[in-house]
Amino acid sequence: MAATLDLDAAKLIAAQLKLIPGFWDDVMITTCAADLVRWCHGAFIDGGMWTPEKQAEWVVTEARENWDKWLGTAAFRQLFRSKFVAPIPPGNAAVDYGPKPPIDCPKCNDSGFLQSPRRYCDCPMGQYLETLWGVRALETRRPQAAQGVRSLQPFEPVTIADMQAATEKHQREKAARAQSVELPPDTPSES
Ligand SMILES: [Zn+2]
Repeated sequence: MAATLDLDAAKLIAAQLKLIPGFWDDVMITTCAADLVRWCHGAFIDGGMWTPEKQAEWVVTEARENWDKWLGTAAFRQLFRSKFVAPIPPGNAAVDYGPKPPIDCPKCNDSGFLQSPRRYCDCPMGQYLETLWGVRALETRRPQAAQGVRSLQPFEPVTIADMQAATEKHQREKAARAQSVELPPDTPSES
């Protein structure tokens, strides 16, 4: 099995894109064929082996069957990636905060919250967050899309970002206490 796609083979596959209205130019075929050569290196997904040719045929067929008109290279690339490239994890998943500090409170894992019903833990982290947020953080957070519903609430719900910021601040303070170091004053984090 070839690990790369032959350009001539790619041109033959890409020529099928002529069936999509708006895709007619020979230059477009050559360009798309070159893109396919760059993208298609074989894959092993859904329990099956995909040769580069099979990948190219899949994305071309998918475009032909679903596009009423040529949507451009960006959309074509997106179509390819939707099948063959795993999504990149959300930003915060990749952040390395260094070795995890030991957990002080096994009841809430230092999150400060207990569930069912949602309430503050009685450990220092829970007390700290309760002082910071009070009842705000005990409300179920609503999806951002529900703007109309959200505006009926008497307060702004605490966001995931707020939670992370507070947790990190608490961890920094904990680390600083452990080293008996004075913390610098808070720097403004907003805007
Ligand atoms: Zn706790």
